[in-house]
Amino acid sequence: MTARIAVSNQKGGVGKTSTAISLGSAVAAAGRTVLVIDLDPQTNATSALGLPKDAQRSIHGVLLRDEPLQQAVTETTVPRLHVLPSSVDMASAEVELVPVMAREFRLRAALSQLEGYDLVLIDCPPSLGLLTVNALVAADFVIVPVQCEYLALEGLAQLLSTIEAVKSRLNPQLSILAILLTMEDKRNRLSQQIADEVTSHFPDLVARTRIPRSVRLAEAPSHGRPIDVYDPTSRATAAYAEFAREIEARLARGATSTTMGVAS
Ligand code: ADP
Ligand code: MG
Repeated sequence: MTARIAVSNQKGGVGKTSTAISLGSAVAAAGRTVLVIDLDPQTNATSALGLPKDAQRSIHGVLLRDEPLQQAVTETTVPRLHVLPSSVDMASAEVELVPVMAREFRLRAALSQLEGYDLVLIDCPPSLGLLTVNALVAADFVIVPVQCEYLALEGLAQLLSTIEAVKSRLNPQLSILAILLTMEDKRNRLSQQIADEVTSHFPDLVARTRIPRSVRLAEAPSHGRPIDVYDPTSRATAAYAEFAREIEARLARGATSTTMGVAS
């Protein structure tokens, strides 16, 4: 079985890329084959995996020039963890997609050829534009990282209604697998209050695992390595390993439906 999961939130800096890389690496370490697709023109996931952002073959050619996806996939230093890199030319992709036929289905069509992966993680850009819609159409599930900070719920309603719209019009398969609380600070009362608030709004969706604020996790991308390779003893490594187990359990029992009250 291949699970395809979009990691999405239109807010920047909430932990999407960190989650795609860290979860992907944790699942690969558990013996599965994982593909991370970097759909963000900022190329952060590509860099965090130690790859250059000017690759000849990248997601750009796959989306806009019908290049075969498999040929653009690259190995990383982590066994069983592969990446479909983003590149600097993705900066114009959002605009270039507009006149394309079946523009919302480009990634889905490209992925239909793909074989041999247990998990595909799509790292989305911080917007709800055509690139993110392509991810939501190509995916079966969504993970929504939410930073434990003031106004965490802000914008979540808009994201959830976009997911609902994609589900009803373009991809009936789609459901939210988990909301993941990130950058939690156990000693900060506000951080705790926010985690509790998000959990009480979405009791079934919020993952039991919370990702702690971790300096080591913030350092890992500049070393081009996932956190579990950069610092196996980090609390963030343990948290993402725990999250990986929770995700496997959620996948096994089928995802929670997205048809729920949307917080406002
Ligand atoms: P996004 O992809 O949503 O923009 P990132 O994963 O790039 O978010 O995270 C934003 C910044 O915060 C990055 O510098 C990243 O290294 C850092 N970061 C992410 N998660 C954590 C965490 N749990 N603890 C500390 N820093 C984090
Ligand atoms: Mg990112």
